[in-house]
Amino acid sequence: MGDKSVANLGEFGVIQHIFAPIQSKQGEGVQLGIGDDAACLVVPRTQDLLATTDTMVEGIHFSSDADPYLLGQKALAVNLSDIAAMGGLPRWYLLSMAVPNRTSQSWLEEFARGVKAASEMFHVALVGGDTVRSNAKIVITVQMLGLIGQHRAVARSGAQVGDRLYLSGTLGDSAFGLAHLLGKLPAMLADDVSYLSRRHHLPEPRIQLGMALQDAALAHACIDVSDGLLADLQHICEASQVSAVVDVEKLPFSESAQRVIAQYGRSALELALTGGEDYELLFAISPGAADQVEKIVHQVGVSLVEIGEVVGVGERPGVVVRQGGEVLSIAQSGWTHF
Ligand SMILES: [Mg+2]
Repeated sequence: MGDKSVANLGEFGVIQHIFAPIQSKQGEGVQLGIGDDAACLVVPRTQDLLATTDTMVEGIHFSSDADPYLLGQKALAVNLSDIAAMGGLPRWYLLSMAVPNRTSQSWLEEFARGVKAASEMFHVALVGGDTVRSNAKIVITVQMLGLIGQHRAVARSGAQVGDRLYLSGTLGDSAFGLAHLLGKLPAMLADDVSYLSRRHHLPEPRIQLGMALQDAALAHACIDVSDGLLADLQHICEASQVSAVVDVEKLPFSESAQRVIAQYGRSALELALTGGEDYELLFAISPGAADQVEKIVHQVGVSLVEIGEVVGVGERPGVVVRQGGEVLSIAQSGWTHF
């Protein structure tokens, strides 16, 4: 094949193959980028700095035969989504990788190409990173840094009783796409397989939406749905010391997801609610602010649907799911990492 493994490249060769292709011209606000002991970044006086990180491990967060190009894009997208959930503007990132000797040079090049595509799409600059040898699996860590106006970050902790809960985009597509890849939910139309697996591989971070919500000071609390709608709503409830009610009838499902639910019933519905990796924004707003939501829908072109409301805390913060006026009890609440 003529495709060298990283064992032939040496450490500097690996760095060359990962970082050199990604690096573009100096990013905005980068006083010192890659090549010094630390990057030096300019944070304007009127701004706060947002920082987030996410690690993906081969065999746990992605399979060994995952497409490296898509994986590169996703490594950035999941971090961009966290900046979006705070209402910020992503600016810079660091990339660290542990790579075993068996990894091929072309795998690294494809991965780097995916990272570069996402960084160009979202105007973020690589400002540092590290590569080390791994003895078994590929491990990818991205740290994303962003800017937001002082004291403007949208936390999870501000939801108030009476607030309406909104969700962007559609729910469950990614979980259905992954389930199909894993051999579950086998009966699916070819078009649905391609749509749902694309939604799994290529999350769309809702940066414009997060910024618009922050700009309008509309969201009392916001989170991106990574662990699953119910688990992430539970995070808002705990941080805000409230409870929440979600109505199944209101949940936004794509046509493909609707067909999967029609075919597989309750188990598919539960997967949509708990599966995670939707990377949509879930937020709480005042009950009187519905027309402002409409304005934002027009402004950013992302659908927003009211899915439920914030209620008093009760015994402890919790999420109730209702369908046809009845309470559904849902066993597994989201993706837990350990
Ligand atoms: Mg998050």
